[in-house]
Amino acid sequence: MSSDRVNLLGLPRTQLETFVAARLGAKPFRARQLMKWIYRRGAADFSVMSDLKQEFREQLGEIAEIAVPQIVTEQASRDGTRKWMLRMDEVQGIETVYIPEPDRGTLCISSQVGCAMDCTFCATAQQGFNRNLSAAEIVGQVWLAQRELAASRSGGQPEEGRRAITNIVFMGMGEPLANYRNVLPAMHIFLDDLGYDLSRRRVTLSTSGLVPQIYKLAEECNVALAVSLHAPNDELRNELVPINRKHPIAELLAACWHYIDQQNGRSITFEYVMLDGVNDKPDHARQLARLMQGRPAKLNLIPFNVFPGTRYRRSADAAILKFRNILNDHGVIATIRRTRGDDIEAACGQLAGRVTDRTLVRLGTRVSNTPRTPAEVR
Ligand code: SAH
Repeated sequence: MSSDRVNLLGLPRTQLETFVAARLGAKPFRARQLMKWIYRRGAADFSVMSDLKQEFREQLGEIAEIAVPQIVTEQASRDGTRKWMLRMDEVQGIETVYIPEPDRGTLCISSQVGCAMDCTFCATAQQGFNRNLSAAEIVGQVWLAQRELAASRSGGQPEEGRRAITNIVFMGMGEPLANYRNVLPAMHIFLDDLGYDLSRRRVTLSTSGLVPQIYKLAEECNVALAVSLHAPNDELRNELVPINRKHPIAELLAACWHYIDQQNGRSITFEYVMLDGVNDKPDHARQLARLMQGRPAKLNLIPFNVFPGTRYRRSADAAILKFRNILNDHGVIATIRRTRGDDIEAACGQLAGRVTDRTLVRLGTRVSNTPRTPAEVR
């Protein structure tokens, strides 16, 4: 993505309209035509845009481009989950995961290269924070996944009307609210009917709890919200999710209930990773129930996914079931998240994003634009 041309990918509709007006003297409907080509039909080349005048396409090609990140590897899990690593620089990559289910297809996207939140149980934290993704790099993950999914289904371009991606969740690498500036325009494109045309409840932003940005989001783009709680008291949460020292649980929950008011009645999903002997005792469940009782909240219990170097273990199945039952008995809705894609390290908290990982070095794989690395287990 290194050129003087403006990358149109990731420009929300109003900005694209301003761009074509200011630089090419074109009417707003030209921007709408461009959006249809870029997002609905997955075009990356102005020459295919047959309903735009030849002259306009040529002028556009001189000042603009549609630049998407490069795919380094693709892996496919036994359960149908797919993971792409996208190249960000010589050493760093980001990961995007597609999770097919009978009634939906969820794309799990990243918002940063690495992460600065430093949660003790997350693999992404171990690589530290490198940089924010641009809006183009965030939207580019959806653009690429749509292309790859269409190619493997029909051997062709994405077709209108057949959707592989019905939901988008910011649950990949990074803290999306720490990159608010670029996440917001990306979300506008996900919601725009000329973009990916998803409803607000099909776009979920997951946060470790950046309270001021939760208030901002409530006003500016109130998509579905998931909050990584992971502990029922400040003492434990300070340890597991260090941002809690800045924004403790009471402050975080106040922001959540405010968010719901603005959002008109839907509920917030609280994520709770089940760590053996750390946060999975019956007393933790009772404390958690007291925080959630009578509130528009759903608990999502996530069995811990191991990664190299972690000091934690996954809670026993019996402990997870008991924990859920205590919550349910107190009238709190709780479900257990089914682990997907763990054989390719695509499960929650396993995304590490090293372009030069051992597999690649050993195979001497060349980075290329065409992702034809055989699916394999690291
Ligand atoms: N930074 C955001 C989004 C990314 S993580 C956030 O914190 O919400 C998506 C979810 O996976 C979060 O709830 C995160 O806490 C959880 N997670 C992280 N590491 C995990 C692991 N090793 N096993 C299971 N879940 C994990």
